[in-house]
Amino acid sequence: MSEYFSQRLAELKPYTAGEQPKDGRYIKLNTNENPYFPSRYAVGKIDGARLDGLRLYSDPDCEQLTTAIARYYNVKPSNVLPSNGSDEALAFCFAAFGDCGVVFPDVTYGFYKVFARLFGVSYDEIPLDSDFSVRVDDYIGVGKIVVLANPNAQTGMYLPLKEIERIVAGNPDNVVIIDEAYIDFGGESAARLTEKYGNLIVVQTFSKSRSLAGARVGYAIACDALIADLQRVKFSFNPYNVNSLSCALASAAMDDKAYFEQCAAKIIATRADLTKGLLALGYTVIPSSANFVLAKSPEIGGAELYALLKKAGILVRHFDDARIADYIRITVGTDEQTAALLKAVGELEEKYA
Ligand SMILES: *Cc1c(COP(=O)(O)O)cnc(C)c1O
Repeated sequence: MSEYFSQRLAELKPYTAGEQPKDGRYIKLNTNENPYFPSRYAVGKIDGARLDGLRLYSDPDCEQLTTAIARYYNVKPSNVLPSNGSDEALAFCFAAFGDCGVVFPDVTYGFYKVFARLFGVSYDEIPLDSDFSVRVDDYIGVGKIVVLANPNAQTGMYLPLKEIERIVAGNPDNVVIIDEAYIDFGGESAARLTEKYGNLIVVQTFSKSRSLAGARVGYAIACDALIADLQRVKFSFNPYNVNSLSCALASAAMDDKAYFEQCAAKIIATRADLTKGLLALGYTVIPSSANFVLAKSPEIGGAELYALLKKAGILVRHFDDARIADYIRITVGTDEQTAALLKAVGELEEKYA
């Protein structure tokens, strides 16, 4: 840290992103990316005219993308704010509504804590139950912003929409942010509840279920007033937050519903095979509604298993956080990648038995 760095941010611990190796040597199951090609229909939108359009600033209103998202969820364009990855939408929320502090589970997406520190928002972590489920009663009337990933990050566990609604209704004086990065892999979105509740913000991303992690596109859905608040922050930070190529890609990807559903269905089927395979090897597997599973070896510690798999050419994710340190998080890849993972894990367990 240089002598010039902000005193206020001296304690900031940045988010540790999963490895992105530059060579293609690894079977990459560590950052919950989609193994399938982005929508060909969407990629086809990047033509000469689009490239010529790079001379101009992107549309600050992201009209085309906003319209496509609104159409998909059957809400008004004034209920949608596109962002540069959903991380940016989350950052806007912390900046806009953070005065009262924020709560989130002790095991969840690591970025919430980072944003809280970056924006000087006080935070409390609410412990998940012993089986990693969210105890809904702990989130009623908390007097702070509630941020919940659903399905939850790192565990993949899903809270039914009725329970989400109980939390939103139980905090009428505070904003409730539901981060639905993984919702398309087996859950029901809370997006339509934004019509009924003026304190709900649903955040989603094109990074996972729509194979566009590198395009950096996400969005928030909420009532007109909350979206207007987020717009104020956006136009105070970066009016051209979504670049024009990503806008074109993402809006067409939203329209290509059939391909999206086909890829999500494949991942859901592969997740069942991966879960079955791990259980057969004696693993503890947390029931997942996401495109990853959190799993624990009967013999090998989490950090060690991560290292052994890396040596075998397979990247998974390990987190040091005490409650999940014995586990590894495995992204659901293709059937071939999953078979290779199960084979490698089987061989390692045999050696250790
Ligand atoms: C991946 C992920 C995000 C971030 O997605 P981007 O849109 O790529 O910024 C947000 N929240 C959760 C829970 C995630 O897992």
